[in-house]
Amino acid sequence: MIFTTRFAPSPTGPLHLGHAYSALFADALAQQNNGRFLLRIEDIDQSRARQEWEQQIFDDLSWLGLSWDRPVLRQSGNLPRYRAALEALWSRGLLFVCHCNRRDIEQAAAAPQEGAPLTGPDGLIYPGTCRDLPRDTRAPLPSGKALRLDLRAAARHLPPEISFEEKGKGSAPQRITCKTEDVAARTGDVVLCRRDMGTSYHLSVVLDDAMQEITDVVRGEDLFDATVIHVVLQHLLDLPVPVYHHHRLIRDDAGKRLAKRDDARAISFFRSEGASPGDIRAMVGL
Ligand code: GLU
Repeated sequence: MIFTTRFAPSPTGPLHLGHAYSALFADALAQQNNGRFLLRIEDIDQSRARQEWEQQIFDDLSWLGLSWDRPVLRQSGNLPRYRAALEALWSRGLLFVCHCNRRDIEQAAAAPQEGAPLTGPDGLIYPGTCRDLPRDTRAPLPSGKALRLDLRAAARHLPPEISFEEKGKGSAPQRITCKTEDVAARTGDVVLCRRDMGTSYHLSVVLDDAMQEITDVVRGEDLFDATVIHVVLQHLLDLPVPVYHHHRLIRDDAGKRLAKRDDARAISFFRSEGASPGDIRAMVGL
């Protein structure tokens, strides 16, 4: 199988130094392995995605010296695939409709009998409020509703341990394992379909990595904790589990991880100041 990796930005703002590092790192790994480097536009949040940011992504990456196969996969073009996966999970009784808003979750998670609120890859761990409401899995998949993965029901379809190969964190490749019975406590019943999107990050990323035949996922270590959920989904949807390389994050001078709004670290800003691609590589320690 040919080593295949990808860079998967969301066109919701300018690429910054952290993105440059991730893309250059992924491309270098692909080259070392005589493999392929792909680009994927993660634009499921159509309320925030903008055509001009997408164009800026192409410009910045080309300027950095990167190239990729075309046409580029856009998640907004994949909604029917996401829906098909949701339908399959729904009919197996692995999803439930969630009516809670953020405030409901904060209140339920902070209830005194629950102890200190716990957080997982998506923030506060969902306290399970809607999990036991009646559901009719023979009815069609509900539309326009938030849907969560029922991890207790899912556990019956999973091996006793969830594991994946991690080649980024630490000095040597390692096998990361988590007992299936512990996954729910670590992540909660994550959202697989947002009310207004018809999918979620977790569902789309897993389906698209499989569709693009990604053998090696290269991304920032901020997504390390989400990986157990991705592997759970790969098992449930009968998809291959890639190797993961979670790399260090590029931080600002105060040690904070860079965000899209850090315009001062945008690649386009450095370009406008006359920096060269080599300068960017040096800035991110490559
Ligand atoms: N679209 C995600 C981001 O911009 C990347 C997700 C991933 O690499 O799995 O952070």
